[in-house]
Amino acid sequence: MKTLFEEIAAREIPANIVYEDDLVLAIRDINLQAPTHVLIFPKKPVPRIAEAKADDQKLLGHLLLKAAEVAKKLDLKGGYRLVINNGPDGGETVPHLHCHILGGRHLAWPPG
Ligand code: AMP
Repeated sequence: MKTLFEEIAAREIPANIVYEDDLVLAIRDINLQAPTHVLIFPKKPVPRIAEAKADDQKLLGHLLLKAAEVAKKLDLKGGYRLVINNGPDGGETVPHLHCHILGGRHLAWPPG
C-alpha cells in the first residue's frame, strides 16, 4: 500500500507543490504551524529517519540541501526551522520520512 506522500507524488491526491525533482517533493502543509509551512520528503518511502539505511546517505543529504534551497526560494530571510518528527513521542503522524520547513514568524525554543 502506498503512503500518503507516495499518493501525492503520484498525483493521486492533490497538493500544492513548491518543488520537485527526481528524488524529492516539497508541498505546502495543509495544517499550518507557521505562516510558511512546507514539507519536503523523499519519493522513496523511507518510513522515518530511524529506519534510514547507509544506502540512503546520498538521498538524505539531497533532502537537506534541497530543504535549504526551498527555504531560500520561499524567501525566509529572517530564518527558519527544519523539523523531522520520529515516532509517537516525536509527534510523527505520517509514516513516510519528511522534513518540515517552518518560518515566517519567530519560533520559540524549546518546542512543546
Ligand atoms: P508529522 O506529524 O511530522 O508526521 O507531519 C505530517 C504532516 O503532514 C502534518 O503537519 C500534516 O498537517 C501534514 N499533512 C497531512 N496530510 C496532508 C496533505 N494531504 N497535504 C499536505 N500536508 C498534509
